[in-house]
Amino acid sequence: MKSYYVRTFGCQMNKHDSERIAGLLEASGYRAAQTIETADVIVFNTCCVRETADDRLYGQVSSLKALKTGGRPDVLIAVGGCVGQRDGDTVLTQVPHVDVVFGTHNIHELPALLDAAEAGRPAVSILAEGDAFASDLPQQREKPWHAWVSITVGCDNHCAYCIVPTVRGAERSRSMDDVVAEVAALVADGVREVTLLGQNVNSYGRDRYGASRFPELLHAVAATGITRIRFATSHPKDLSDDTIAALAELPAMMPYLHLPVQHGSNRILAAMNRTYTREQYFQRVEAVRAAVPGIALSTDIIVGFPGETEEDFADTLDLVERVAFDHAFTFIYSPREGTPAARLPETVSRPVAQERFDRLANLVRDLSYAANQAEVGSVRACLVEGASRRDERVLAARTPHNRLVHISVPHGATAASLAGSIVPVRITGAHPWFLSGELIDPGPGESAHSG
Ligand code: SAM
Ligand code: SF4
Repeated sequence: MKSYYVRTFGCQMNKHDSERIAGLLEASGYRAAQTIETADVIVFNTCCVRETADDRLYGQVSSLKALKTGGRPDVLIAVGGCVGQRDGDTVLTQVPHVDVVFGTHNIHELPALLDAAEAGRPAVSILAEGDAFASDLPQQREKPWHAWVSITVGCDNHCAYCIVPTVRGAERSRSMDDVVAEVAALVADGVREVTLLGQNVNSYGRDRYGASRFPELLHAVAATGITRIRFATSHPKDLSDDTIAALAELPAMMPYLHLPVQHGSNRILAAMNRTYTREQYFQRVEAVRAAVPGIALSTDIIVGFPGETEEDFADTLDLVERVAFDHAFTFIYSPREGTPAARLPETVSRPVAQERFDRLANLVRDLSYAANQAEVGSVRACLVEGASRRDERVLAARTPHNRLVHISVPHGATAASLAGSIVPVRITGAHPWFLSGELIDPGPGESAHSG
């Protein structure tokens, strides 16, 4: 039996695609390898949203040449996903020891492409577009109690800096029946939490005339009896009052919203083609907080977009402070060939961008720390993910607000035995990026496994 190893770069969408790549390979008779060096088939599921991911991919693939020349010439190397879609057979020009190239629309072809490569036939296949949803392929879930469920693929928004619409295509929504059937099957399989995925989940259904939209989908998914629902990502311009109402009304909806703002200056937001102003963003945040008091908010922010002045950047700091995000993912602008912004003169030097990035990162850390400190003393129903990365005796769990909590493994239990259960936890300490907590006795009549 041949073995495989999948290395994933990039976003949740890619992680989900990788689960399906693993599922496909298992269904084709492969088994998981323990390490990349011992695998018979190595699959890189790639990201090209920023240059750093691109560079890391080509660096890592290049270094595998030694594996092939050093005694394992039969190892097959496949490059798929966003870089495969963008670069096609030019991947082979840059790294000729790669055997298979596939794109974002044809993951299902991978087993056949591997067979072709093994037989010495050409194995590069890119489709310009496709209807396949990763969720329709066989699955190999990373965590038995959590599932990603894609509800849309592609994106119609064309933010000026972003390569996603080029490599993922136009937005397409999956039918509500398919999504609900999948979640129902997951519930039956013991899944406690689903994360509904799309580049802009709020526009779900827009491409299917007369079909249900995102708020109805949330109600239908909740009706399956799933314990916890999260979703990503929300575009602020499409976050409707009905979606906010569903967040407030449905007990399964977790009180957490990722709402990327990207910038705090109206001038830069317009140049980015985000189609909302900072005032409109504040208004959406107010509406969400009024409907779901205490909801945790996170965001994405880009620093150093072409034309960004010190005043523009001050607007970003001001917006971040005023919203007081619980967390923010921060990025230095990375020009991507083929995007409108790549044609703009780069006015912000790397050292200036780095200095602004560091100031923003400090503010984000301070806000996250303050939000975590406010949690101390509260009791939260936490979903146990397993052992923490560094210590088998410490559990990693998530509060409903998506905060990471470290808890000592109780006597007589193991991290593995508790993974997937929902337990009451008293928060005892705060750190900038995580909380400390202790399991508490649920008391008579309450189940440690209740939502
Ligand atoms: N669809 C999502 C949205 O609109 O928020 C996220 C898509 S993208 C994979 C994730 C994040 O990467 C974006 O929110 C943005 O902050 C960042 N990003 C995208 N293109 C970038 C670029 N060229 N340079 C730096 N950051 C970028
Ligand atoms: Fe990229 Fe904008 Fe689409 Fe998000 S909404 S994927 S940032 S184009």
